[in-house]
Amino acid sequence: MRFHNFNGGPAVLPQSVLERVAAEMLDWQSTGMSIMEISHRSKEVAAMSAETQELVRSLLGLGPEWAIAFCQGGASLQFAMLPLNFAGDGGVCDYVNTGLWATKAFEEAKLCGAAPRLAASSQDEAFTYIPREFDFSASPKYIYLCSNNTVRGTRWPAFPAKTPGPLVGDFSSEFMSRPLDLTNFALVFAGAQKNVGPAGLTIVLIRKDFAETGKKGLPHMLDYRTYVENDSMYNTPPVHAIYVANLVFKWLRDTIGGLDKMEALNETKAKTLYDFIDHSSGFYRGTARLDSRSPMNVTYRLSNPELEKPFLEEAKKEGLVGLGGHRSVGGIRASLYNALRLDEVETLVAFMKRFMEKNG
Ligand SMILES: *Cc1c(COP(=O)(O)O)cnc(C)c1O
Repeated sequence: MRFHNFNGGPAVLPQSVLERVAAEMLDWQSTGMSIMEISHRSKEVAAMSAETQELVRSLLGLGPEWAIAFCQGGASLQFAMLPLNFAGDGGVCDYVNTGLWATKAFEEAKLCGAAPRLAASSQDEAFTYIPREFDFSASPKYIYLCSNNTVRGTRWPAFPAKTPGPLVGDFSSEFMSRPLDLTNFALVFAGAQKNVGPAGLTIVLIRKDFAETGKKGLPHMLDYRTYVENDSMYNTPPVHAIYVANLVFKWLRDTIGGLDKMEALNETKAKTLYDFIDHSSGFYRGTARLDSRSPMNVTYRLSNPELEKPFLEEAKKEGLVGLGGHRSVGGIRASLYNALRLDEVETLVAFMKRFMEKNG
């Protein structure tokens, strides 16, 4: 039996994709081998990887000025690759601090010798909102933001319209949940395990002209050009993770019908849960400010915190799992990633209603 999986990441994947992966496990594309047992230089794997890039390109509508790189090391390695490539020793780069992951990126930039500056922060209110005003440097190497804050359940309602440098962003927990407006962006990255596939793959969208401005002479695996110039095949890429992402992208295209449809579905899912929370007479309380709420990660508390443990235990008994808040903040978090269905959100809401009637 499969549970209703509200995990924050790694997270739920479409059942049809998992079934296909299982069916192809022993003999992939009549090669007589698992995809994990074949050279990444084989024509089958090279074609699969190229097709995956094309799927990303067509789903997002990326023009030829964008390169797509398949990296490893998670989103966390991007925290270092960005300053290493684009800030260099003492290079000024601006950061907007909206929570745990942005803080980590900021600290990592210091370790890389860059001179990161805070252009804005929502730490004053426990990262429950997205700042609207920014104190940008005159000409920063880049401006860093985290588009969806997985831990606190906030998402940027709109990105800064005028910036004195290129925007770069961590989109890990909302990548492929909606169409992307890449105006002013030069680089976007996302660890796959939140919305796209298995851990081990990080998808990086990078403007080719921006990649060219990167520092020369870095170790190969830390230099974005290595990925761009070698079609992400400089060394052995995470073949199995790319293959699962390929199937997820085809599911997005063929079953869902593209990113506009996915966004509409995600909005409906989020509205279903937020509306119930907002009409629970305070029994449940959303933690993010209304104008900054994330449709991907819905964070909330019970007015009586002592009820949170029984809430999680009883939810689990009913097959609703992964609802505990991030270990740094506690509370409840329902992650409603692409593969989580609307009827599963309705099942959660029905449970929350029963729990409230019993304990309210
Ligand atoms: C999960 C997450 C990360 C960390 O990703 P790793 O792949 O484990 O390094 C970074 N940023 C955001 C927004 C996340 O949700």
